[in-house]
Amino acid sequence: MKMRSKHWVGWICGLIIIFVVAFGTILHVNHSNKLVKKQQTMQKSSIKSQRDSLPKNSKLSDWQLILINKQHPRTSEIHFNQVTVDDKQIDQRILKPLTDFRAGAKVAGYDTTLVSGYRSIAAQTKVYQDSLQQNEANGMDRETATKLTKSVIQTPGSSEHQTGLAVDLAGSDALAKYPALMAQMDEFKSQKWLIKHAADYGFVLRYLKDSKSISQTGIDYESWHFRYVGIANAQYMVKHHLTLEAYRNILRNAGQN
Ligand SMILES: [Zn+2]
Repeated sequence: MKMRSKHWVGWICGLIIIFVVAFGTILHVNHSNKLVKKQQTMQKSSIKSQRDSLPKNSKLSDWQLILINKQHPRTSEIHFNQVTVDDKQIDQRILKPLTDFRAGAKVAGYDTTLVSGYRSIAAQTKVYQDSLQQNEANGMDRETATKLTKSVIQTPGSSEHQTGLAVDLAGSDALAKYPALMAQMDEFKSQKWLIKHAADYGFVLRYLKDSKSISQTGIDYESWHFRYVGIANAQYMVKHHLTLEAYRNILRNAGQN
C-alpha cells in the first residue's frame, strides 16, 4: 500500500511539471508572437510617419541635396558663385545661413572658427598627394602609406568640401584644445551648441556617431563637419536621425526626384 501511494505521488508530480512546462511554453510563444507583431506595427507606423511629414517641396535634384561620397565621386569641378569668409571660400548661397548660424552661437556665448570651406578637386588632390609623400618619406611602403592617407583624407573626387556647401566649423575653445580636429571636440559646450542648433540654420552634422550611419556615409564620426541642406531637410533629417544617404533614399522611394 505504501509503495502504491508513493507511486501515485510521483505520477501527480510528473503531471504537474508537464502541465506547467506546456502552459509556460504556450504563454511564451504567444507573448513572442505579440511582440513580433507589435514591432512590425511600430516599424510600419514609423515608416508611415516618415512619409507623411516628408518635406513636400524637396527633390533629389535640389542643389542643396547634392551627394558626394566614396560611392558617388565627382571627377569634374563643380561651378558656383564663390564668396570668401575668413579666408575660406564657400558657395554664396550658404553665406547668410552660415553667418546666422555663427551669430547664433555668438549670442549663446560661443566664438566659432571656420576651419575649412570649399576645396577644389585640384586642391584635394594636392592635400592627398602631400600626405602620401609624407608617409612614404617616413619610411612606409606605398600600400601602407596609401592606407594611412585614405584613413584621414578623402580620395580626390569624393570629398564633400568640393560642393562649397560643407564647412568644418569649431567652437574656438574646442579647436584650441584639438587643433587637428578630433571627435572629442564635442566635449565642449560650444561644439555641443553647434551640433544641437545646426538644423535651425539649415545645416546637419554630416558624419554621425552610430555604426549604422558610419556604414552609410563611409566616414567616421566628425563632430565639426557641417553640411548645408536647407532648414526643412535638416530638421527632418535630425528628427528621424538620417544621414544624407538615407534621406535621399526616402525621397527616391517617395518619388520626389
Ligand atoms: Zn570637413
